Amino acid sequence: MNKSAPLVDAYLHKGLREKLVLLLREKGITDENVLTAIGKIPRHFFLDSAFDKIAYEDRAFPIAADQTISQPYTVAYQTQLLQIKKGDKVLEIGTGSMYQTSVLAEMGAQVFTIERQKQLFDKTAKYVFKDLYLNVQFFFGDGFEGLPDLAPFDKILITAAAPHLPEKLWAQLKTSGKMIIPLDESETAQRMMRLTKKRDGSVKKEAFDQFSFVPMLQGKTQK
Ligand code: SAH
Repeated sequence: MNKSAPLVDAYLHKGLREKLVLLLREKGITDENVLTAIGKIPRHFFLDSAFDKIAYEDRAFPIAADQTISQPYTVAYQTQLLQIKKGDKVLEIGTGSMYQTSVLAEMGAQVFTIERQKQLFDKTAKYVFKDLYLNVQFFFGDGFEGLPDLAPFDKILITAAAPHLPEKLWAQLKTSGKMIIPLDESETAQRMMRLTKKRDGSVKKEAFDQFSFVPMLQGKTQK
């Protein structure tokens, strides 16, 4: 999050945001609740001030600790696949910039989000919307472990490239719950998958487009 410059959401930003929403519609995003949330949340608040004017381009940008804020299209795509309903209990793996977290919170989900990079987690203490979104809780830890004490979850969203289906996360999903996971197909590309837990515990798999994410890594950093 931008610490140096004051956080101002100007007409310029609002205009750029409207254009971004139009672009996402053109690219095939149809969930009105997703589009409304993206139209509302100042993405430039989650980036360094150097990105102020380009924050609404449909691109990923670097944040701290060599990580990225996901491209808006990717955020919209994953959120749409999750079929978020108000009150859904959602576990997000990879807090990163807190932008995706904010989209989920704006849509009325109860969000539990985990980050393994201490440098990024430490920024969550200054979450710009902490007084607005009381439905968000931040955790420092390894997303492969999930949050067993708070399970089960209605939805699980993985925002980093997963080498395989994390078993412990699957166990923390409710029956009929959905997990959105970008699964490695090669070193540089992931297949977006929606996994639904059937009544008998087996998995219904649906495959979508290819994306490119930073890797989901084991363990957590010390600093
Ligand atoms: N949702 C974020 C995307 C950030 S990129 C956003 O909108 O900005 C992916 C994030 O996943 C990075 O911050 C990375 O540090 C984190 N990550 C990778 N492996 C992880 C793991 N095992 N547990 C928790 N976070 C992880």
